[in-house]
Amino acid sequence: MNWPGRERFPDISLWMEALPRAAPRAPLPGDRRYDVAIVGGGYTGLWTAYYLKTLQPDLALCVLEARVCGFGASGRNGGWLMAALEGERALLGGIDGERRRQAREAILGILPEVARVLDREGLECDFHRGGGLFAAARYPEQLAAQRAELAARQVLGYGEADYRWLDADALAARLRIRRPLGAVYTPHIARIQPARLARGLADCVTRLGVDVYEQTRVTACEPGALVTDQGRVVAPVRLMAVEGFSEGLAAQRRHVLPVQSRVLATEPLDEARWREIGLARREVFSDASPLITYAQRSADDRLVFGSRGSYRFGGRSRSDFRGDGAAFAAIRRLMLACLPQLADVDVTHCWGGTLGIPRGGCPHAVYDPASGFGTAGGYLGEGVGASNLMARTLADLVLERDSALAATPWAHRGLPRQVLRRWEPEPLRWLAYKATDWALGLEEAACARAGPRWQRRLLGRASGLLAALRG
Ligand SMILES: Cc1cc2nc3c(=O)[nH]c(=O)nc-3n(C[C@H](O)[C@H](O)[C@H](O)COP(=O)(O)OP(=O)(O)OC[C@H]3O[C@@H](n4cnc5c(N)ncnc54)[C@H](O)[C@@H]3O)c2cc1C
Repeated sequence: MNWPGRERFPDISLWMEALPRAAPRAPLPGDRRYDVAIVGGGYTGLWTAYYLKTLQPDLALCVLEARVCGFGASGRNGGWLMAALEGERALLGGIDGERRRQAREAILGILPEVARVLDREGLECDFHRGGGLFAAARYPEQLAAQRAELAARQVLGYGEADYRWLDADALAARLRIRRPLGAVYTPHIARIQPARLARGLADCVTRLGVDVYEQTRVTACEPGALVTDQGRVVAPVRLMAVEGFSEGLAAQRRHVLPVQSRVLATEPLDEARWREIGLARREVFSDASPLITYAQRSADDRLVFGSRGSYRFGGRSRSDFRGDGAAFAAIRRLMLACLPQLADVDVTHCWGGTLGIPRGGCPHAVYDPASGFGTAGGYLGEGVGASNLMARTLADLVLERDSALAATPWAHRGLPRQVLRRWEPEPLRWLAYKATDWALGLEEAACARAGPRWQRRLLGRASGLLAALRG
Protein backbone atom coordinates (compact mmCIF):
# COMPACT_ATOMS: atom_id res chain seq x y z
CA MET A 1 0.00 0.00 0.00
CA ASN A 2 1.65 3.23 -1.11
CA TRP A 3 1.64 6.57 0.62
CA PRO A 4 -0.45 8.74 0.45
CA GLY A 5 -3.12 6.07 0.69
CA ARG A 6 -5.68 4.64 3.00
CA GLU A 7 -3.52 5.25 6.05
CA ARG A 8 -3.09 8.98 6.29
CA PHE A 9 -1.54 10.64 9.33
CA PRO A 10 -4.75 10.73 11.42
CA ASP A 11 -5.31 7.02 10.80
CA ILE A 12 -1.96 6.09 12.33
CA SER A 13 -2.60 7.20 15.91
CA LEU A 14 -3.92 9.98 18.12
CA TRP A 15 -0.34 11.26 18.23
CA MET A 16 -0.02 11.55 14.45
CA GLU A 17 -3.49 13.10 14.20
CA ALA A 18 -2.46 15.79 16.68
CA LEU A 19 0.50 16.97 14.58
CA PRO A 20 0.12 20.35 12.95
CA ARG A 21 0.96 20.51 9.23
CA ALA A 22 2.24 16.95 8.80
CA ALA A 23 3.00 16.06 5.19
CA PRO A 24 5.08 13.25 3.69
CA ARG A 25 8.56 14.03 2.35
CA ALA A 26 9.53 13.22 -1.23
CA PRO A 27 10.77 9.75 -2.17
CA LEU A 28 14.31 8.91 -3.30
CA PRO A 29 14.73 10.63 -6.70
CA GLY A 30 16.50 7.72 -8.45
CA ASP A 31 19.95 6.14 -7.94
CA ARG A 32 22.19 7.80 -5.36
CA ARG A 33 25.48 7.31 -3.51
CA TYR A 34 26.02 7.86 0.25
CA ASP A 35 28.60 7.04 2.90
CA VAL A 36 25.88 5.64 5.17
CA ALA A 37 22.33 4.56 4.32
CA ILE A 38 19.86 3.88 7.14
CA VAL A 39 16.71 1.82 6.59
CA GLY A 40 13.73 2.87 8.74
CA GLY A 41 12.53 6.29 9.86
CA GLY A 42 11.61 5.45 13.45
CA TYR A 43 13.51 6.51 16.56
CA THR A 44 16.34 4.03 15.95
CA GLY A 45 17.05 5.17 12.40
CA LEU A 46 16.61 8.86 13.17
CA TRP A 47 18.65 8.89 16.39
CA THR A 48 21.41 6.97 14.58
CA ALA A 49 21.39 9.57 11.78
CA TYR A 50 21.48 12.33 14.41
CA TYR A 51 24.53 11.00 16.26
CA LEU A 52 26.45 10.02 13.13
CA LYS A 53 25.90 13.45 11.61
CA THR A 54 26.72 15.41 14.77
CA LEU A 55 29.85 13.34 15.43
CA GLN A 56 31.04 13.51 11.83
CA PRO A 57 29.32 16.35 9.95
CA ASP A 58 30.99 15.61 6.59
CA LEU A 59 29.32 12.17 6.33
CA ALA A 60 26.92 11.82 3.40
CA LEU A 61 23.93 10.16 5.02
CA CYS A 62 20.40 9.18 4.08
CA VAL A 63 17.40 7.66 5.83
CA LEU A 64 15.07 5.54 3.70
CA GLU A 65 11.53 5.17 5.07
CA ALA A 66 8.89 3.01 3.38
CA ARG A 67 5.93 5.17 4.52
CA VAL A 68 6.51 8.28 6.64
CA CYS A 69 8.81 8.80 9.60
CA GLY A 70 6.91 7.70 12.69
CA PHE A 71 4.69 5.31 10.74
CA GLY A 72 5.97 2.38 12.82
CA ALA A 73 5.90 1.93 16.59
CA SER A 74 7.68 5.29 17.04
CA GLY A 75 4.55 7.21 16.05
CA ARG A 76 2.14 4.93 17.89
CA ASN A 77 3.55 3.97 21.28
CA GLY A 78 2.45 4.70 24.85
CA GLY A 79 5.00 7.50 25.30
CA TRP A 80 6.95 6.06 28.22
CA LEU A 81 10.50 7.28 27.74
CA MET A 82 12.40 5.04 30.14
CA ALA A 83 15.99 5.05 31.30
CA ALA A 84 15.86 1.27 31.37
CA LEU A 85 16.31 -1.68 29.03
CA GLU A 86 13.98 -4.64 28.91
CA GLY A 87 16.46 -7.49 29.24
CA GLU A 88 18.91 -5.49 31.33
CA ARG A 89 19.01 -8.15 34.01
CA ALA A 90 20.61 -10.49 31.50
CA LEU A 91 22.85 -7.76 30.08
CA LEU A 92 24.10 -6.38 33.41
CA GLY A 93 24.02 -9.77 35.12
CA GLY A 94 26.67 -11.04 32.70
CA ILE A 95 29.25 -8.42 33.70
CA ASP A 96 30.46 -7.00 37.00
CA GLY A 97 32.60 -4.36 38.68
CA GLU A 98 33.49 -1.21 36.77
CA ARG A 99 32.02 -2.52 33.51
CA ARG A 100 28.64 -3.04 35.14
CA ARG A 101 28.75 0.38 36.77
CA GLN A 102 29.50 2.03 33.43
CA ALA A 103 26.72 0.15 31.67
CA ARG A 104 24.25 1.08 34.44
CA GLU A 105 25.30 4.73 34.21
CA ALA A 106 24.81 4.61 30.46
CA ILE A 107 21.27 3.31 30.93
CA LEU A 108 20.45 5.91 33.57
CA GLY A 109 21.91 8.55 31.27
CA ILE A 110 19.18 8.06 28.66
CA LEU A 111 16.78 10.64 30.09
CA PRO A 112 19.32 13.44 30.64
CA GLU A 113 20.74 12.83 27.17
CA VAL A 114 17.34 12.99 25.45
CA ALA A 115 16.48 16.13 27.47
CA ARG A 116 19.81 17.68 26.41
CA VAL A 117 19.16 17.08 22.71
CA LEU A 118 15.55 18.28 22.91
CA ASP A 119 16.80 21.47 24.48
CA ARG A 120 19.74 21.94 22.16
CA GLU A 121 17.76 21.30 18.98
CA GLY A 122 14.57 23.06 20.12
CA LEU A 123 12.46 19.89 19.80
CA GLU A 124 9.02 19.88 21.44
CA CYS A 125 7.43 16.55 22.33
CA ASP A 126 5.53 17.19 25.60
CA PHE A 127 8.51 15.74 27.49
CA HIS A 128 7.63 15.68 31.19
CA ARG A 129 9.73 13.86 33.76
CA GLY A 130 7.03 12.81 36.21
CA GLY A 131 8.49 9.38 36.97
CA GLY A 132 6.61 6.10 36.86
CA LEU A 133 4.40 3.97 39.10
CA PHE A 134 5.52 0.67 37.89
CA ALA A 135 3.61 -2.61 38.01
CA ALA A 136 1.10 -1.55 40.65
CA ALA A 137 -0.03 -4.71 42.42
CA ARG A 138 -3.76 -5.29 42.81
CA TYR A 139 -3.70 -8.96 43.85
CA PRO A 140 -1.68 -10.47 46.70
CA GLU A 141 0.15 -12.89 44.35
CA GLN A 142 1.58 -9.91 42.49
CA LEU A 143 3.19 -8.40 45.58
CA ALA A 144 5.87 -11.05 45.95
CA ALA A 145 6.74 -10.88 42.25
CA GLN A 146 7.10 -7.09 42.34
CA ARG A 147 9.24 -7.15 45.46
CA ALA A 148 11.46 -9.83 43.87
CA GLU A 149 11.81 -7.64 40.79
CA LEU A 150 12.86 -4.71 42.97
CA ALA A 151 15.38 -6.87 44.84
CA ALA A 152 16.84 -8.04 41.52
CA ARG A 153 17.39 -4.43 40.48
CA GLN A 154 19.16 -3.73 43.76
CA VAL A 155 21.49 -6.67 43.10
CA LEU A 156 22.43 -4.96 39.82
CA GLY A 157 23.44 -1.87 41.78
CA TYR A 158 20.34 0.32 41.51
CA GLY A 159 19.61 2.18 44.75
CA GLU A 160 16.58 3.61 46.54
CA ALA A 161 16.94 6.79 44.53
CA ASP A 162 16.42 4.78 41.34
CA TYR A 163 13.68 2.30 42.27
CA ARG A 164 11.77 2.21 45.53
CA TRP A 165 8.79 0.44 46.98
CA LEU A 166 5.57 2.36 47.63
CA ASP A 167 3.24 0.63 50.07
CA ALA A 168 -0.52 0.60 49.62
CA ASP A 169 -1.05 4.02 51.23
CA ALA A 170 1.78 5.70 49.37
CA LEU A 171 0.51 4.27 46.09
CA ALA A 172 -3.09 5.31 46.81
CA ALA A 173 -1.92 8.86 47.53
CA ARG A 174 -0.62 9.09 43.96
CA LEU A 175 -3.02 6.86 42.02
CA ARG A 176 -6.58 5.90 42.95
CA ILE A 177 -6.35 2.49 41.32
CA ARG A 178 -8.74 -0.24 42.41
CA ARG A 179 -7.31 -2.35 45.26
CA PRO A 180 -3.87 -0.68 45.46
CA LEU A 181 -1.46 -2.99 47.27
CA GLY A 182 1.89 -1.46 46.37
CA ALA A 183 4.08 -0.47 43.44
CA VAL A 184 7.63 0.30 42.43
CA TYR A 185 8.30 4.00 41.88
CA THR A 186 11.10 5.26 39.68
CA PRO A 187 11.99 8.83 38.74
CA HIS A 188 13.71 7.57 35.58
CA ILE A 189 10.71 7.77 33.26
CA ALA A 190 9.39 10.71 31.29
CA ARG A 191 6.15 11.03 29.39
CA ILE A 192 6.31 12.17 25.77
CA GLN A 193 4.05 12.68 22.77
CA PRO A 194 5.63 9.96 20.59
CA ALA A 195 4.88 11.28 17.11
CA ARG A 196 6.14 14.76 17.95
CA LEU A 197 9.48 13.20 18.87
CA ALA A 198 9.64 11.08 15.70
CA ARG A 199 8.64 13.85 13.31
CA GLY A 200 10.73 16.40 15.22
CA LEU A 201 13.80 14.20 14.90
CA ALA A 202 13.18 13.80 11.16
CA ASP A 203 13.04 17.61 10.78
CA CYS A 204 16.10 17.99 12.97
CA VAL A 205 18.33 15.59 10.99
CA THR A 206 17.11 17.15 7.74
CA ARG A 207 18.28 20.54 9.05
CA LEU A 208 21.66 18.97 9.85
CA GLY A 209 22.04 17.84 6.23
CA VAL A 210 20.76 14.25 6.28
CA ASP A 211 18.62 13.31 3.26
CA VAL A 212 15.40 11.79 4.60
CA TYR A 213 13.42 10.01 1.88
CA GLU A 214 9.92 8.89 2.71
CA GLN A 215 7.64 6.68 0.55
CA THR A 216 10.77 4.67 -0.32
CA ARG A 217 10.75 0.98 0.46
CA VAL A 218 14.00 -0.94 0.63
CA THR A 219 13.45 -4.30 -1.03
CA ALA A 220 16.91 -5.85 -0.72
CA CYS A 221 20.18 -5.33 1.09
CA GLU A 222 23.12 -6.32 -1.12
CA PRO A 223 26.85 -6.09 -0.48
CA GLY A 224 27.62 -2.37 -0.81
CA ALA A 225 24.12 -1.32 -1.89
CA LEU A 226 20.42 -1.13 -1.06
CA VAL A 227 17.74 -1.81 -3.64
CA THR A 228 14.60 0.31 -3.23
CA ASP A 229 11.36 0.69 -5.16
CA GLN A 230 12.61 4.18 -6.21
CA GLY A 231 16.21 3.44 -7.20
CA ARG A 232 19.47 1.99 -5.97
CA VAL A 233 21.52 3.42 -3.12
CA VAL A 234 25.20 2.57 -3.15
CA ALA A 235 26.61 2.89 0.37
CA PRO A 236 29.57 1.19 2.03
CA VAL A 237 27.70 1.33 5.37
CA ARG A 238 24.10 0.05 5.51
CA LEU A 239 22.19 0.11 8.81
CA MET A 240 18.87 -1.64 9.43
CA ALA A 241 16.46 -0.01 11.87
CA VAL A 242 13.16 -1.70 11.05
CA GLU A 243 12.35 -3.46 14.38
CA GLY A 244 8.86 -5.04 14.05
CA PHE A 245 9.00 -4.94 10.24
CA SER A 246 11.92 -7.32 9.92
CA GLU A 247 9.96 -9.94 8.02
CA GLY A 248 9.91 -7.62 5.01
CA LEU A 249 13.69 -7.84 4.47
CA ALA A 250 15.52 -11.10 3.84
CA ALA A 251 18.57 -9.85 5.78
CA GLN A 252 16.42 -9.44 8.91
CA ARG A 253 13.92 -12.29 8.53
CA ARG A 254 12.84 -14.09 11.73
CA HIS A 255 15.25 -11.90 13.66
CA VAL A 256 12.48 -10.48 15.84
CA LEU A 257 8.99 -11.70 16.60
CA PRO A 258 6.65 -8.92 15.45
CA VAL A 259 3.98 -8.47 18.11
CA GLN A 260 1.02 -6.11 17.98
CA SER A 261 0.14 -3.93 20.95
CA ARG A 262 -3.03 -1.83 21.11
CA VAL A 263 -3.76 1.52 22.70
CA LEU A 264 -6.84 3.60 23.40
CA ALA A 265 -7.31 7.20 24.50
CA THR A 266 -10.15 8.77 26.43
CA GLU A 267 -11.58 12.17 25.74
CA PRO A 268 -9.71 14.98 27.58
CA LEU A 269 -10.71 14.77 31.26
CA ASP A 270 -11.39 17.73 33.52
CA GLU A 271 -9.56 18.53 36.75
CA ALA A 272 -12.32 17.07 38.94
CA ARG A 273 -11.94 13.73 37.17
CA TRP A 274 -8.17 13.84 37.52
CA ARG A 275 -8.56 14.42 41.25
CA GLU A 276 -10.50 11.13 41.33
CA ILE A 277 -7.73 9.36 39.42
CA GLY A 278 -4.57 10.93 40.85
CA LEU A 279 -1.39 11.22 38.74
CA ALA A 280 -1.07 14.83 39.88
CA ARG A 281 2.62 14.76 38.92
CA ARG A 282 1.74 13.22 35.57
CA GLU A 283 3.51 9.99 36.40
CA VAL A 284 3.06 7.17 33.92
CA PHE A 285 1.70 3.96 35.39
CA SER A 286 1.20 0.27 34.75
CA ASP A 287 -0.48 -2.36 36.84
CA ALA A 288 1.00 -5.79 37.44
CA SER A 289 -1.43 -7.54 35.12
CA PRO A 290 0.22 -10.35 33.13
CA LEU A 291 -1.47 -8.76 30.11
CA ILE A 292 0.99 -5.84 30.44
CA THR A 293 -0.75 -2.52 30.75
CA TYR A 294 0.78 0.93 30.34
CA ALA A 295 -0.81 4.35 30.69
CA GLN A 296 0.01 8.03 30.60
CA ARG A 297 -1.76 11.30 31.31
CA SER A 298 -1.26 13.16 28.05
CA ALA A 299 -0.46 16.85 27.77
CA ASP A 300 -4.10 17.48 26.81
CA ASP A 301 -5.33 15.50 29.85
CA ARG A 302 -6.48 12.28 28.24
CA LEU A 303 -5.78 8.92 29.78
CA VAL A 304 -3.92 6.92 27.15
CA PHE A 305 -4.00 3.24 28.04
CA GLY A 306 -2.45 0.29 26.22
CA SER A 307 -2.03 -3.42 26.64
CA ARG A 308 -0.10 -6.42 25.41
CA GLY A 309 -1.03 -7.56 21.98
CA SER A 310 -1.18 -10.37 19.53
CA TYR A 311 0.96 -12.21 17.00
CA ARG A 312 0.04 -12.95 13.39
CA PHE A 313 0.95 -16.27 11.86
CA GLY A 314 4.06 -15.87 9.69
CA GLY A 315 5.24 -12.83 11.63
CA ARG A 316 3.44 -10.31 9.47
CA SER A 317 3.47 -6.77 10.85
CA ARG A 318 0.22 -4.82 11.11
CA SER A 319 -0.57 -1.16 10.85
CA ASP A 320 -4.33 -0.98 10.33
CA PHE A 321 -6.33 -1.81 13.46
CA ARG A 322 -9.77 -0.76 12.33
CA GLY A 323 -12.19 -3.60 12.85
CA ASP A 324 -10.50 -4.76 16.07
CA GLY A 325 -13.50 -3.73 18.17
CA ALA A 326 -13.43 -6.83 20.39
CA ALA A 327 -9.75 -6.39 21.22
CA PHE A 328 -10.23 -2.72 22.08
CA ALA A 329 -13.28 -3.57 24.21
CA ALA A 330 -11.05 -5.98 26.17
CA ILE A 331 -8.49 -3.20 26.75
CA ARG A 332 -11.25 -0.88 27.93
CA ARG A 333 -12.33 -3.58 30.40
CA LEU A 334 -8.75 -3.78 31.67
CA MET A 335 -8.66 0.01 32.05
CA LEU A 336 -11.93 -0.06 34.03
CA ALA A 337 -10.66 -2.92 36.18
CA CYS A 338 -7.86 -0.54 37.24
CA LEU A 339 -9.86 2.70 37.22
CA PRO A 340 -13.61 2.03 37.56
CA GLN A 341 -14.16 5.78 37.97
CA LEU A 342 -13.78 6.08 34.17
CA ALA A 343 -16.90 4.03 33.38
CA ASP A 344 -18.82 6.96 31.87
CA VAL A 345 -15.87 8.44 29.99
CA ASP A 346 -15.73 8.29 26.18
CA VAL A 347 -12.93 6.50 24.39
CA THR A 348 -12.21 8.67 21.35
CA HIS A 349 -9.18 6.96 19.75
CA CYS A 350 -8.08 3.35 19.27
CA TRP A 351 -4.96 2.28 17.40
CA GLY A 352 -2.15 -0.23 17.52
CA GLY A 353 1.35 -0.93 16.28
CA THR A 354 4.00 -3.58 15.86
CA LEU A 355 6.92 -4.03 18.22
CA GLY A 356 9.75 -6.55 18.09
CA ILE A 357 10.86 -9.35 20.39
CA PRO A 358 14.39 -10.55 19.52
CA ARG A 359 15.25 -14.24 19.66
CA GLY A 360 18.47 -13.28 21.43
CA GLY A 361 16.35 -11.78 24.24
CA CYS A 362 18.07 -8.38 24.61
CA PRO A 363 18.34 -5.03 22.86
CA HIS A 364 21.50 -4.69 20.82
CA ALA A 365 23.60 -2.55 18.51
CA VAL A 366 25.56 -4.59 15.99
CA TYR A 367 28.07 -3.47 13.37
CA ASP A 368 30.25 -5.57 11.13
CA PRO A 369 33.14 -3.44 9.77
CA ALA A 370 34.06 -6.13 7.24
CA SER A 371 30.73 -5.96 5.37
CA GLY A 372 29.50 -2.50 6.44
CA PHE A 373 26.25 -4.07 7.69
CA GLY A 374 24.76 -2.97 11.00
CA THR A 375 21.52 -3.06 12.91
CA ALA A 376 20.03 -1.91 16.21
CA GLY A 377 16.84 -2.80 18.03
CA GLY A 378 15.32 -5.80 19.77
CA TYR A 379 13.62 -3.64 22.39
CA LEU A 380 10.90 -6.07 23.54
CA GLY A 381 8.36 -3.26 23.45
CA GLU A 382 10.47 -0.78 25.42
CA GLY A 383 12.32 1.12 22.73
CA VAL A 384 11.35 4.75 23.25
CA GLY A 385 14.33 5.48 25.50
CA ALA A 386 16.40 2.42 24.57
CA SER A 387 16.52 3.46 20.90
CA ASN A 388 18.47 6.57 21.88
CA LEU A 389 21.06 4.46 23.69
CA MET A 390 21.30 1.84 20.94
CA ALA A 391 21.61 4.55 18.29
CA ARG A 392 24.46 6.25 20.15
CA THR A 393 26.14 2.88 20.54
CA LEU A 394 25.70 2.02 16.86
CA ALA A 395 27.12 5.40 15.83
CA ASP A 396 30.20 4.78 18.00
CA LEU A 397 30.66 1.31 16.49
CA VAL A 398 30.35 2.60 12.93
CA LEU A 399 32.80 5.45 13.56
CA GLU A 400 35.10 3.05 15.41
CA ARG A 401 35.15 5.29 18.47
CA ASP A 402 36.91 3.86 21.46
CA SER A 403 34.06 4.91 23.76
CA ALA A 404 32.50 3.54 26.93
CA LEU A 405 29.36 2.74 24.92
CA ALA A 406 31.31 0.61 22.46
CA ALA A 407 32.37 -1.55 25.42
CA THR A 408 28.85 -2.13 26.83
CA PRO A 409 27.26 -5.60 26.76
CA TRP A 410 24.74 -4.50 24.12
CA ALA A 411 27.48 -3.37 21.69
CA HIS A 412 28.67 -6.03 19.24
CA ARG A 413 31.30 -5.97 16.52
CA GLY A 414 30.94 -8.52 13.74
CA LEU A 415 27.77 -10.55 13.29
CA PRO A 416 27.43 -12.60 16.51
CA ARG A 417 25.16 -15.57 15.92
CA GLN A 418 23.80 -15.58 19.46
CA VAL A 419 22.64 -11.94 19.22
CA LEU A 420 21.24 -12.26 15.70
CA ARG A 421 19.60 -15.63 16.31
CA ARG A 422 16.52 -16.32 14.26
CA TRP A 423 13.19 -17.43 15.62
CA GLU A 424 12.02 -20.96 14.92
CA PRO A 425 9.97 -21.42 11.76
CA GLU A 426 6.18 -21.59 11.84
CA PRO A 427 4.05 -23.08 13.23
CA LEU A 428 6.34 -23.22 16.29
CA ARG A 429 6.45 -19.45 16.85
CA TRP A 430 2.69 -19.12 16.52
CA LEU A 431 2.01 -22.07 18.83
CA ALA A 432 4.43 -20.79 21.48
CA TYR A 433 2.90 -17.32 21.37
CA LYS A 434 -0.67 -18.64 21.53
CA ALA A 435 0.16 -20.90 24.47
CA THR A 436 1.71 -17.99 26.37
CA ASP A 437 -1.23 -15.76 25.54
CA TRP A 438 -3.68 -18.35 26.71
CA ALA A 439 -1.89 -18.91 30.03
CA LEU A 440 -1.56 -15.17 30.70
CA GLY A 441 -5.25 -14.64 29.95
CA LEU A 442 -6.21 -17.44 32.36
CA GLU A 443 -3.94 -16.02 35.05
CA GLU A 444 -5.48 -12.57 34.72
CA ALA A 445 -9.00 -14.04 34.79
CA ALA A 446 -8.23 -16.18 37.85
CA CYS A 447 -6.86 -13.14 39.71
CA ALA A 448 -9.75 -10.92 38.65
CA ARG A 449 -12.46 -13.25 39.85
CA ALA A 450 -10.38 -14.10 42.93
CA GLY A 451 -10.31 -17.79 42.01
CA PRO A 452 -8.79 -20.25 44.47
CA ARG A 453 -5.29 -19.27 45.61
CA TRP A 454 -3.76 -22.55 44.34
CA GLN A 455 -5.24 -21.90 40.89
CA ARG A 456 -3.83 -18.38 40.70
CA ARG A 457 -0.40 -19.51 41.83
CA LEU A 458 -0.35 -22.44 39.43
CA LEU A 459 -1.38 -20.28 36.50
CA GLY A 460 1.17 -17.66 37.50
CA ARG A 461 3.90 -20.29 37.44
CA ALA A 462 2.67 -21.76 34.13
CA SER A 463 2.60 -18.44 32.33
CA GLY A 464 5.98 -17.48 33.78
CA LEU A 465 7.42 -20.72 32.46
CA LEU A 466 5.87 -20.29 29.04
CA ALA A 467 7.09 -16.67 28.82
CA ALA A 468 10.60 -17.82 29.75
CA LEU A 469 10.49 -20.60 27.14
CA ARG A 470 9.30 -18.17 24.51
CA GLY A 471 12.03 -15.66 25.35
C1 LIG B 1 1.40 0.25 20.73
C2 LIG B 1 2.81 0.35 21.20
C3 LIG B 1 3.08 0.93 22.42
C4 LIG B 1 4.40 1.04 22.87
N1 LIG B 1 4.67 1.73 24.02
C5 LIG B 1 5.95 1.95 24.40
C6 LIG B 1 6.26 2.77 25.51
O1 LIG B 1 5.37 3.38 26.11
N2 LIG B 1 7.57 2.88 25.88
C7 LIG B 1 8.56 2.24 25.21
O2 LIG B 1 9.74 2.34 25.61
N3 LIG B 1 8.31 1.51 24.10
C8 LIG B 1 7.03 1.37 23.67
N4 LIG B 1 6.77 0.68 22.52
C9 LIG B 1 7.89 0.19 21.72
C10 LIG B 1 8.57 1.34 20.95
O3 LIG B 1 7.59 2.15 20.36
C11 LIG B 1 9.49 0.76 19.90
O4 LIG B 1 10.40 -0.12 20.54
C12 LIG B 1 10.29 1.83 19.16
O5 LIG B 1 9.45 2.83 18.68
C13 LIG B 1 11.05 1.16 18.02
O6 LIG B 1 11.58 2.16 17.20
P1 LIG B 1 12.27 1.73 15.84
O7 LIG B 1 12.70 2.96 15.17
O8 LIG B 1 13.30 0.70 16.12
O9 LIG B 1 11.11 1.00 15.02
P2 LIG B 1 9.82 1.63 14.30
O10 LIG B 1 9.36 2.84 14.98
O11 LIG B 1 8.84 0.52 14.14
O12 LIG B 1 10.37 2.10 12.90
C14 LIG B 1 10.69 1.21 11.87
C15 LIG B 1 10.44 1.97 10.58
O13 LIG B 1 10.99 1.21 9.50
C16 LIG B 1 10.16 1.39 8.38
N5 LIG B 1 10.43 0.27 7.46
C17 LIG B 1 10.13 -1.02 7.67
N6 LIG B 1 10.53 -1.77 6.63
C18 LIG B 1 11.10 -0.91 5.75
C19 LIG B 1 11.69 -1.08 4.46
N7 LIG B 1 11.78 -2.28 3.89
N8 LIG B 1 12.17 0.01 3.82
C20 LIG B 1 12.10 1.25 4.41
N9 LIG B 1 11.53 1.45 5.62
C21 LIG B 1 11.05 0.39 6.27
C22 LIG B 1 8.76 1.39 8.96
O14 LIG B 1 7.81 1.97 8.10
C23 LIG B 1 8.96 2.14 10.26
O15 LIG B 1 8.68 3.51 10.12
C24 LIG B 1 5.46 0.53 22.07
C25 LIG B 1 5.18 -0.08 20.85
C26 LIG B 1 3.87 -0.16 20.41
C27 LIG B 1 3.59 -0.79 19.07
